[in-house]
Amino acid sequence: MAIKEGLWDCPTCQTKGILGRYRECDNCGAPRPEGVRFYLPQNAPNVTNTEQLAIAKAGADWICEYCGASNRVKEENCVECSAPKSEITQAVKEYSTANIPRSPKAQTLPRQKRMPSSSIPTAVVRSSMSTKKGKGRGYKWWLGIIAIAASVVVGLAIFLFRPITVEATVSGLSWERKVTIEKLTTVTESDWSIPAGGRLLSQREEIRRYKQVLDHYETKTRQVSEQVKTGTESYNCGTRDLGNGYFETKTCTRDVYETRTKTETYDDPIYRDEPIYETKYTYEIDRWLRDRVEVASGVTKQTYWPDFVLNAKEREGGRSQDYKVYFTGEKGESYTLELDPDFWSTFDPGESQILKVNRLGGVKLAE
Ligand SMILES: [Zn+2]
Ligand SMILES: [Zn+2]
Repeated sequence: MAIKEGLWDCPTCQTKGILGRYRECDNCGAPRPEGVRFYLPQNAPNVTNTEQLAIAKAGADWICEYCGASNRVKEENCVECSAPKSEITQAVKEYSTANIPRSPKAQTLPRQKRMPSSSIPTAVVRSSMSTKKGKGRGYKWWLGIIAIAASVVVGLAIFLFRPITVEATVSGLSWERKVTIEKLTTVTESDWSIPAGGRLLSQREEIRRYKQVLDHYETKTRQVSEQVKTGTESYNCGTRDLGNGYFETKTCTRDVYETRTKTETYDDPIYRDEPIYETKYTYEIDRWLRDRVEVASGVTKQTYWPDFVLNAKEREGGRSQDYKVYFTGEKGESYTLELDPDFWSTFDPGESQILKVNRLGGVKLAE
């Protein structure tokens, strides 16, 4: 429980760091007022002087109601004006380690005082500036590479996608219509159940999946660590402002633990895969399968569906159609457009048409 001497600041003349032992300002002589803020710099030495230790331990100072002088607790009358002892005393305060006041209260100083730029040596200023410049150059170098790469990408995209207007002539039309024919076919399949319409051919037991089954235990060892209490230790857990210019370091006690490892045996379960059998069926079933595609096509506006005959166990499985217009550009280049039937039929060979094309082969009609 070490005693340390604190410091205080004179509110009258602003003198900083007056030793706790002085009850008056050592500059202007003003008495230490009630509620003065005591602080304890880091690494303040322990007080060893017996007289000071006695003062520190005696109790908080009291303030004279008549002349304002600060008096030690042992004084029965004011040392300045002999008035009787008052009830007004300096506060005793408890601080945890984290919030011990360490320095004079920060004051808002005029701007020029807070930033004494003129006091910084010129050499330091110059060296810090040159470092900044160097960093800046490196940063710009990377920025340049990124900017060049980005403009190349953007330029290429513009080059590839930007449409060019082309005057073209309709050189021809074409159309194609398709009908898919399906045939009811008997196929052999095998599954864990027979779907509707399936006719059983054979069946047998087969492994469908595996199940994990506990087989046995194996005895194994492992390292486990545990916290073991080995004793107690004292530590500095805060300080007490004694209200007389001195501080007392508080000591607390805590348990000390040690991590110990030990070897432990345990039973490790070992599993095996056990097959699960189920009945698998082989059956025949009639399925509609794609058999052939009937196609009709032409290069005139006369369109029709292919002529076909459905045989026994056959059906239509879907229709599709596509319509194309071919163009020739001024330099003989050819373009193809796929259109819907109604729009397609409005084009006639020999007509001129403005197209928008890009270098990736995209073709559009100009609006
Ligand atoms: Zn003063
Ligand atoms: Zn007095």
